[in-house]
Amino acid sequence: MFSPLKYIDVILPLPLKGTFSYASEQEELEVGQRVVVQFGVRKLYTAIIKRVHDEKPTDYEAKPLLAILDEAPVVNAIQLQFWEWIAKYYMCNLGDVMQAALPSSLKLASESQVIIHPDFDGDIDDLKAEEEMLITALSNQEQMSVAAISKLINTSSVFSFINEVIRKEIVQIKEDLHDKYKMKVLKVARFIASDELLANTKLTHKQMAFVEAYKQLNISKIWSVADLLKETGFSRAIFNALVKKEIFTIEEEGISRLLKSSQEIIEDKQLADFQEKALSEIKTAFTKKEVCLLHGVTSSGKTELYIKLIEQQLKQGKQVLYLLPEIALTTQIIKRLQKHFGNKVGITHSHLNNGERVEVWKAVQETDSQKVKYPIMLGARSSLFLPFNNLGLIIVDEEHDSSFKQHQPAPRYHARDAAIYLAHLHKAKVLLGSATPCVESYYNAKVGKYALVEMHTRFADIALPKISTIDIRKAHLKKEMKQQFAPQLLNAIKDTLSIGKQVILFQNRRGYSPVLSCGTCAYTPNCNSCDVSLTYHKWNYHLKCHYCGYTEQVPEVCPSCTAKDFSDKGFGTEQIEESLKELLPDYVTKRMDYDTTRGKNAHQNIITDFEQGRIDILVGTQMVTKGLDFDNVALVGILNADSMLHFPDFRAYERAFQLMMQVAGRAGRKGEQGQVLIQTYDEEHEMFALLKANNFGTFIKNQVEERRLFSYPPYNRLIGITLKHKKQRKLDEAAQQLVVMMKKSFGTRVLGPEYPAIARIRNYYHKNVLLKIEQEGSVAEAKKILNTIIERMQNHSDFKSIRFIMDVDPV
Ligand code: ADP
Ligand code: ZN
Repeated sequence: MFSPLKYIDVILPLPLKGTFSYASEQEELEVGQRVVVQFGVRKLYTAIIKRVHDEKPTDYEAKPLLAILDEAPVVNAIQLQFWEWIAKYYMCNLGDVMQAALPSSLKLASESQVIIHPDFDGDIDDLKAEEEMLITALSNQEQMSVAAISKLINTSSVFSFINEVIRKEIVQIKEDLHDKYKMKVLKVARFIASDELLANTKLTHKQMAFVEAYKQLNISKIWSVADLLKETGFSRAIFNALVKKEIFTIEEEGISRLLKSSQEIIEDKQLADFQEKALSEIKTAFTKKEVCLLHGVTSSGKTELYIKLIEQQLKQGKQVLYLLPEIALTTQIIKRLQKHFGNKVGITHSHLNNGERVEVWKAVQETDSQKVKYPIMLGARSSLFLPFNNLGLIIVDEEHDSSFKQHQPAPRYHARDAAIYLAHLHKAKVLLGSATPCVESYYNAKVGKYALVEMHTRFADIALPKISTIDIRKAHLKKEMKQQFAPQLLNAIKDTLSIGKQVILFQNRRGYSPVLSCGTCAYTPNCNSCDVSLTYHKWNYHLKCHYCGYTEQVPEVCPSCTAKDFSDKGFGTEQIEESLKELLPDYVTKRMDYDTTRGKNAHQNIITDFEQGRIDILVGTQMVTKGLDFDNVALVGILNADSMLHFPDFRAYERAFQLMMQVAGRAGRKGEQGQVLIQTYDEEHEMFALLKANNFGTFIKNQVEERRLFSYPPYNRLIGITLKHKKQRKLDEAAQQLVVMMKKSFGTRVLGPEYPAIARIRNYYHKNVLLKIEQEGSVAEAKKILNTIIERMQNHSDFKSIRFIMDVDPV
């Protein structure tokens, strides 16, 4: 007897439109389950079932489904709805969303490369025959594709087999190693037995021999379990037995996956009256609105309010998602939440390997509220894709931060906006928090779309910092500048340090990459594949392209005029650090930027050193502005505010203001009023008056008005379209054609085509077209029309090789 044939529509992890149908006789097919299917010539993929039905496809023969990977769905119905919304709203493929959403080991494909797990200790005694075969093969050739493994191991279900060995941490998928922050958790063997214990414990001959062998080694060194076994030549089984007898213990070094915290320390703070008032306003707001914007000045206690709201959710058995702009930068927040909620806080970040990602996934998926491990999940934007089933609240902390927007690759979503949609699906609430909300959110709150709650004072009546400007035009004219410093700033730094206080100096990253140029002919080295100057890295004497990564040594002589006369222009954090070491040699200056925080715990180490007073002056980029809370900082200096103001972007002022207010917020948190000094060529700029008055309200009102005048968001919606091609002529033709077609439907709402500031990256020319749609117009309708136009372009034989990149609500 045949079971009746069923059809399933699946999502494939490929940049393809729509879903694909396969046939199966299986009974137990559920939406959200993973299955293995063939797509293209002999390629296998993990796909997600989106629909089960019995309509035979009319235009092609449905191939059979090859295997079902899970008993229960790994993706729930709300997630699928969320994926669909993302794909539609951000104009990308459902497959792109699947790629972004699922941890890589949940989406094996024939091409996936498998490697030995870095923690695998080499002990093959306990392995099954196929597993041993795989390990042997992998030790000879380092990596193997799933396709190759399926030839090696004669199993009908290679995907299930590989999933199992990944789960056992014998192998892992290679792509995660691209992550340069990749951190390995090392299993370290520690000898813990006292002489007494050793004397009183019965050991076998082999176990005794092991202990003896260990004592012969250099035991002051930290031994990883794997190294120890290799060195002594004993098997894992003997070591394990000794661990059982408490002679040895195994400890994990490095960041563990889910930040362990051993005990739960409840630290209950009494809210101040103004905080209590804000809290009750938020609670009332949530009875009427789905979204509430909490605008509270730096140090007003927003985090304390988040904690109270989270508590309330946990009492109701709900999950909470706490979104942060960049997880690597926020160890302070993590610590605070853990102090309060102990091991209920789970965290996802880019350092997790694929086994860990799956572990987090499973933990969030747990539906039994008694068993839920991490009712509070903390993470950056991608944590929106975790399999929540019972969300009650999403907190978007520092909601103005532009790193909530994904730029590359698709889906190019904005986590703040996507969070609002996700919460809507869960009937949950969203709290947007910031000292400097973005124009869009502030506007939405003012027109009543969101509720608005404000806190204008800092906790414990600490005064807001005193902000002043320094005219460096004058200082330059009078030749008073000492390197990058006007005398007022340098003196203030000295005074601050002399009374044992600390200083933060901020240098905007944008527009200030240090370049080398020839002092004789003014030649500047450029990247051969991108239209940019190479950035000079003094520490390793290299030139690097920040777009494609191309690197070279600084040439000995100028390639253009052969003079030996290269010097660096501009000032990056590196030069400032050097100047300070020269000008203030008695104090410790450290730099915090992309270069100095790449190492394992580098970022955290700098913060700890600064917190504990081992650093006097911290020089940094945007990184120093983010959610840090230092007690002893009395002075914040902003070295060159103008680079932020003069940026050709309608958000330039908004960003500049937010940044300066955020850095200013680092000054004078406890104790006396802090001081902020801003060096600028343009003291009269209206922004500074508002900044000095701490008048964010007026600033943002002016911005909203400007956006209205010039038809920018929130009054208009923007959709950016970037065309890419290696041949400039072809690109020009395509862009021209696209604009002609778009103008037929959209008229003057189409802007461009234009080359971006950097027109060529990795040998691809870029051209931008912008579509502006009025708020009253139907954005969904406009997207439909745009999709049709682009499909027509893509089907046109001339333009098949053009790449189109859609960016909805670009930031
Ligand atoms: P924000 O998130 O608005 O910048 P925080 O929540 O970080 O403000 O608060 C600033 C500082 O004041 C923190 O060190 C915090 O612990 C402390 N603080 C805020 N509210 C209280 C309170 N009610 N009781 C005790 N300390 C508080
Ligand atoms: Zn380049």
